Amino acid sequence: MSNKIQAVRGMNDLLPDEAERWEAFEDIVRDWLKSYGYRPIRTPIVEHTPLFSRGVGEHTDIVEKEMYSFEDRLNGEHLTLRPEGTASCVRAVVEHNLLYAAPQRLYYTGPMFRHERPQKGRYRQFHQVGVEALGFTGPDIDAEHIVMCARLWDDLGLEDVTLEINSLGEADERARHRTELITYLQGHESKLDEDGRRRLHTNPLRVLDSKNPDMLPIIEAAPKLMDFLGEASLKHFEEVQALLREAVVPYRINPRLVRGLDYYNRTVFEWVTTRLGAQATICAGGRYDGLVEQLGGKPAPACGFGMGIERVMLLWLEGQEEGALTRPDVYLVHQGEGTQKFAFRIGEMLRGAGFSAVFHCGGGSFKSQMKKADGSGANYAVIIGDEEVAAEQVTLKPLREQGEQRRLSVESLAEELAEALFSDNESDG
Ligand code: ATP
Ligand code: MG
Repeated sequence: MSNKIQAVRGMNDLLPDEAERWEAFEDIVRDWLKSYGYRPIRTPIVEHTPLFSRGVGEHTDIVEKEMYSFEDRLNGEHLTLRPEGTASCVRAVVEHNLLYAAPQRLYYTGPMFRHERPQKGRYRQFHQVGVEALGFTGPDIDAEHIVMCARLWDDLGLEDVTLEINSLGEADERARHRTELITYLQGHESKLDEDGRRRLHTNPLRVLDSKNPDMLPIIEAAPKLMDFLGEASLKHFEEVQALLREAVVPYRINPRLVRGLDYYNRTVFEWVTTRLGAQATICAGGRYDGLVEQLGGKPAPACGFGMGIERVMLLWLEGQEEGALTRPDVYLVHQGEGTQKFAFRIGEMLRGAGFSAVFHCGGGSFKSQMKKADGSGANYAVIIGDEEVAAEQVTLKPLREQGEQRRLSVESLAEELAEALFSDNESDG
């Protein structure tokens, strides 16, 4: 038996090749969010458990069975690793009174924790990009969120991602629908699965959210929430759609789309793909006008969405080349008495001039150092021996492109290197 300690099931390491791609993704995402005027917010990964039971809802999958909750050994506080970001974001906004002066467009990204059965696209530690707009009442912000997602898929070159939307109306509209839905579901109680029977009274809307294919016929024929919406809710929904048409973002109205969390009202949406099996939703969100007040703030409208980074990455990386994404400009090879200090200084000089330079550590023959230089992926080797030190010079040797090695003065190195890298790039593409 091996005594190696392994990562916790459902929690993944991102090794350098993959982590570089995550950083590239995060760069694109940050630029995209800034282009819509969103600003970052960072909240702790651990929160008081009642934030989620109250904020996400007692009768949701997350709160009923997925949270990593524990008692602080020292003071007995009930704490939970965040399963999603909206409740934390709203808590912070209320706690710091951010809505005092103006509405807020916010985003965050980071790990979330849910105890689920791990599979492709479903993990116990996963990552989301979350976007929240607080203090905006109109349908334009709902549409902004949907349209901005469409732009990101475009920026990433994702295909086969489609949009489903629905409206959950307001509390009183849902209450009238709920009564009829319970009556209907009671008529089919024997055909409901265990979750369905339990939710029939606690959270009947959630029965419609079931992923059990056996439940589909019952769900299909259930009373539709859309038929219970009043004039204002319908108008809001119609205006969202008008803006989507204006932006030429195709959508499908899915009357069964109810979302897994309690806090939504009016517009809800999901971006789905057929490429990830049961993990079809890569991004989901909508309006949640009641949550700010529910978490102790002055009533304020809000809407937002969460994107599953692992699922988006599975789509984005499909067909992309593997291997390292970045390579250093230079690998510094040095051999001979007194060359180490000189090479060390040249390395610092190059970094100061904006180049990436890897210093050879650990000695070894010239040949073995050149092997390391090749293996590093660097574009050039800067070679320093006794002769170079004596003459205050270096040797620049191309590693990727054809070309002779050249002896250069220390003063001209940065300029010559910049020119060489530039012309390599030109000839590449
Ligand atoms: P699902 O129906 O797939 O369980 P959900 O409704 O629970 O998703 P949300 O709470 O809306 O998901 O979270 C927003 C997004 O986060 C999801 O659309 C998905 O892309 C991603 N996500 C949710 N749970 C996981 C998970 N366990 N592993 C990876 N990504 C996840
Ligand atoms: Mg889920």
